[in-house]
Amino acid sequence: MILHEILQHNDCFVKNEEYVPYEATKIPKKRMVVVSCMDARLVELLPKALNLHNGDAKIIKNAGGIISHPFGSIMRSIVTAVYELSAEEVYIIGHHGCGMSQSNPKGTLQKAIDRGVVTPEALQTLEYTGVDLEKWLFGFSNVVDSIKANIDLVRNHPLMPKDVPVHGLVIAPDTGKLDLIVDGYKEIPVGMKN
Ligand SMILES: [Zn+2]
Repeated sequence: MILHEILQHNDCFVKNEEYVPYEATKIPKKRMVVVSCMDARLVELLPKALNLHNGDAKIIKNAGGIISHPFGSIMRSIVTAVYELSAEEVYIIGHHGCGMSQSNPKGTLQKAIDRGVVTPEALQTLEYTGVDLEKWLFGFSNVVDSIKANIDLVRNHPLMPKDVPVHGLVIAPDTGKLDLIVDGYKEIPVGMKN
């Protein structure tokens, strides 16, 4: 009963004013927005490894940290962070050993069939109507390529200011070590740098 545990803890948390050390405003102190993966190993490790505290950054997460569509919700969050929440830099942070790099769309669909959620016939009907579920479920085959593709998408978005650096990094989910893939400062057109 995780929910009950959560609610019980929450009661004490609020009563004992344990929230006080976390008080912050919605404008990120470090003026940055991070896109990363929902991997459970990164819940605390990612902010600790980057020295991010409550109120420091906007953090957007999904499976694989993938920006799959220029007009999807991740890109909307980045644009909102830049224009409405004063974010001045974007950090795309993938990680080694990401589940989305070994994603198995066929296997996922088979699990849905095995659980009785869909029938193979229903899947076939979807396919005929142009819905490519395997493509939709697919993550990436290489984390560095995925990060670079995300950066391209953000940098070339029609609503993204060209003077916003978009950095790419890979984090190790065991040690928190960061490897720099793209230094966004170097990619800003000459004459637009601060
Ligand atoms: Zn991941």
